[in-house]
Amino acid sequence: MSARVLVVDDVLANVKLLEARLSAEYFDVVTANCGTQALEICERAECDIVLLDVMMPDIDGFEVCRRLKSNPKTHFIPVIMVTALDSPADRVRGLDAGADDFLTKPVSDVVMIARVRSLTRLKMMTDELRMRAITSLEIGVNAPEREAVADTGRGGRVLLVDDRPSSYERLAPVLATEHHVDVEPNPAEALFHAADGNYDLLIVSLGLENFDGLRLCSQARSLERTRSLPILAIADADNNARLLRGLEIGVNDYLLRPVDKNELLARARTQIRKRRYTDHLRDNVQNSIEMAITDPLTGLHNRRYMESHLATLAEQAAMRAKPLALMMLDIDYFKSINDNYGHDAGDDVLREFAVRIRKSIRGIDLACRFGGEEFVIVMPETDLHVAGMVAERLRRSIAGESFSIEKGAKRIEVTISIGIATLETKGEPVSAVLKRADQALYRAKHDGRNRVVAAAA
Ligand code: GH3
Ligand code: MG
Ligand code: MG
Repeated sequence: MSARVLVVDDVLANVKLLEARLSAEYFDVVTANCGTQALEICERAECDIVLLDVMMPDIDGFEVCRRLKSNPKTHFIPVIMVTALDSPADRVRGLDAGADDFLTKPVSDVVMIARVRSLTRLKMMTDELRMRAITSLEIGVNAPEREAVADTGRGGRVLLVDDRPSSYERLAPVLATEHHVDVEPNPAEALFHAADGNYDLLIVSLGLENFDGLRLCSQARSLERTRSLPILAIADADNNARLLRGLEIGVNDYLLRPVDKNELLARARTQIRKRRYTDHLRDNVQNSIEMAITDPLTGLHNRRYMESHLATLAEQAAMRAKPLALMMLDIDYFKSINDNYGHDAGDDVLREFAVRIRKSIRGIDLACRFGGEEFVIVMPETDLHVAGMVAERLRRSIAGESFSIEKGAKRIEVTISIGIATLETKGEPVSAVLKRADQALYRAKHDGRNRVVAAAA
């Protein structure tokens, strides 16, 4: 899918020029000739990135950017300011309004395409995360946009890689006014340092004396631990080719020497804010995935997860010609525990039961709460004989030690019945194994409970 770029400029000729260049690179282009129109298009989520003119008659670019970035609905759309002004003060003003980047008129084709590409790539990734996080929003986890809008980008952990004292002795104190800063003067150590340090931002000087700063950037991009760590490069003004190369390999932003202090701070804040936002999204997704596959009472997997994972385990077993055993367990007379001691006592029993299950199975076994007081354990590479021994051990661990209820005030006897079955033939549907285990469980109940019954092959 090609990204859709919104070009905003009050001068039609400028719009046409950018539109032609972007279309030539296969971007979809939408256009607006004033700030109001641009805000409407963004609000309707009709673009992936905005190229925004600064000087416009109705609302100027800084203000448009500020409104986009303070609205949770449009906050995540990257904004590149296109400006005829090129003083550090203007750049700082734009960054403070939340701009993701700057292009100076006349706009260089190569630089523009590189920036648009890298920012849309980042947006596609966060879009994906945001979509997955919607579930967690629905169940009330904090909206990441709201926090992101409020984040100042200060108080980050920054690693500055620079081997020239004249340079880092000037930059580090500036950064330290807003962040926690470590300086790494040895570029060969920098990657390990970055991977270990839990940083929010890596700043790399490309003018290192004895080391290629770009190589460090590319290594940081390929290493798992540092892959999502933003990189801000500091380059010498006369080396455009190296800078472009840097952007291609995933440097997020750059500054040219001599470094303007305020611009350094503003760019660092922007990167740190973005980093926190994506981290937050990722945590949300992680949480919602866990919630979707876990039973909240026992912490075991839920039925949905078991059923999808069982199919995978069955395929693997068939492919490797290994046995696969399945155990179905049900607490005996559980209803009467609820009836006699209350629902909370029933819950205590379920929780403790899950603890004992975990203790008696291996790491590769999959235990889940199938529903109510029924549980399933899937055991890869296990035949019926071994499964029978495991089941018997588990049955004894339940019947052999009473369960504590009412915060330890009482103890009650609990027993379970277990049915076991194995995956018989290659290609048998998993529902068939479940059914045979269930039938065996029914026999165990019928034969008097507190026992293990194996399904007939
Ligand atoms: P059997 O020996 O035949 O298995 O009898 P039973 O009483 O264990 O089985 P039955 O299916 O009649 O009752 C199961 C009870 O489990 C009914 C239901 O209210 C209770 N139950 C289901 N889920 C929960 C839960 O999360 N907490 C509690 N406390 N009780 C639950
Ligand atoms: Mg203008
Ligand atoms: Mg029961």
